[in-house]
Order: sequence, then C-alpha cells, then structure tokens
Amino acid sequence: MIIDVHSHTWQYPDHLGDDFRDQSIRAWGGHDVDLTVRFEDYKRECSEEVKTVVFGGKAKLSGMWVEDDYVAEYVNEHPDDLIGFLSVDPTQPGWREDLRRSHQDLRLRGIKLLSMYAGFKPSDPELNDLWAYATEHGLPVLLHTGTTFIAQAPLECTLPRHLDDVAIRYPDANIIMAHLSHPYGGECAVTIRKHPNVYADVSAIHYRPWQLYNALMLVQEYGVWDKLLFGTDYPFATVDNTLQGLRGLNSVLEGTSLPRLDEDAMERMIYRDSLSLLGLSG
Ligand SMILES: [Zn+2]
Repeated sequence: MIIDVHSHTWQYPDHLGDDFRDQSIRAWGGHDVDLTVRFEDYKRECSEEVKTVVFGGKAKLSGMWVEDDYVAEYVNEHPDDLIGFLSVDPTQPGWREDLRRSHQDLRLRGIKLLSMYAGFKPSDPELNDLWAYATEHGLPVLLHTGTTFIAQAPLECTLPRHLDDVAIRYPDANIIMAHLSHPYGGECAVTIRKHPNVYADVSAIHYRPWQLYNALMLVQEYGVWDKLLFGTDYPFATVDNTLQGLRGLNSVLEGTSLPRLDEDAMERMIYRDSLSLLGLSG
C-alpha cells in the first residue's frame, strides 16, 4: 500500500483562474493542459494500491480558489480511498471561520497552505491561531514550499526557514513541506533534520531529475530519509510516473563515480505508513 500525501481536486480553469492559466501556458512552452481532476483518471495511473490525501487550494493573490465543500464532496464519493484536507488563505477575511467549519462540519482532516501563491509567511504572527488550532486538534499542515512560475507570488514567502521558526514555537504541529522545497533542498533537509514533526514530500519534482538527485543526496548525507513522504501533486504528476522517476534516478549517474542514492531507503520511503505518522490512520 502506497500513501500519496499530496494530490489536488479542482475544475480547470474555473478554480484556478484565467491568470493562472495564462501564466502556466507561458511556463509550459505555449500549450494549455487540462488540469481538471477526475478520480478515474487518477486511479488509472496507479498500478499499486494507494490511499490518497487530497485538497483544493486557496490563494487569492494567484487567483486560485477551491471551496472546501467541493473537496468534501469529492472525498465523500470515494471515502475508502481519499482523506480530505481543508485550505485557508490567511490574507483573506473569514479564514478562521472557514478553518473551524471545514474541520468541524465538513470533517476535513488536515490543512493545505499555499504561502507563496497567496503571499504570506507561515511564521507571520497572524497565523498563530492556525498553528495553535492545528496542534490542538491534530491536523497536519502541508505547505507548498519551493518555487512556482506565478509572477506575483513572492519567493520570500516559500523558504523552508519560516517553518523552522514555526516548529520552534509549535514543536507538536505535524508539518509537511511539499516538493522538497525545490530549489531550496538544502534548507529543506536541515529543517526536517532539526524538528521531529517536520517532514517533506517528494511530489512533482521527478521531472527535474538532476534537482531531485541533489535534494535526495542532501537528505541522505544529513541522514533524514525517514522524514520523507511519498506524494505526487496530481494532476501535475501521477503515482506511476513519480515511482518511475524516483526508481530511475541512479541510472542518470551511469558512467560517473557520483555517489548513489540508497535504494532500500527510497523503497522504505515509497511504502511509508504516512497516515500513522501524521495521526490520520483512524
Ligand atoms: Zn500541490
């Protein structure tokens, strides 16, 4: 059984907005890709048994807005396969009410934050209520960390060091930094090393193999393979192509004497029981 800790549900372009679409076309060499998520499409590219964490995303600054009701409906259609997380954008009024309602009424079980896309630092004192609530109710918080092609999204907001600050103040909060914080993999590795409840996911980076190799080699050198969680960032990547990308990394090194990634550690990461680690197995 594989746990995918990072996937989305939304309709494209309605939930992501025209500006996001225009900028993604620019970033992806002039062509548009249908990013609408359908459960059957997701499952078609899982050749192994999988349980999946899913969320939408809220970031006014970048035009992304998926209501949590939409996520809850999607989860309720596939309750044995999916675990839903809520989203808030703390730059917008009403986020504290959204947080409580989506947790208590919609029964969503974790929080997704898009700090860079929404333009806030997760260590901002405005978010103290969020970290206290997440800790009190055992809600894991998964954050986009690392870059994006969206022009108005500030790089400063995405740095792993802000989560070091959060974890110093809220050591019991379960935090997942997405995408190994590309290209800040070094800062990601040292942050997960410091804090027992801070993890990173490997989603949506296998298609940059040199970057993924470097980030995982830093993870290996700092001895923190056990802090990595498997994730895809579907629809940007699938379970099968993420597995293939990870398992093919050492072959990139053929003909060199560069150090190899520990394939046993990688397999343990792929099959890690992330739901138990994050308190979501019940
Ligand atoms: Zn994502």
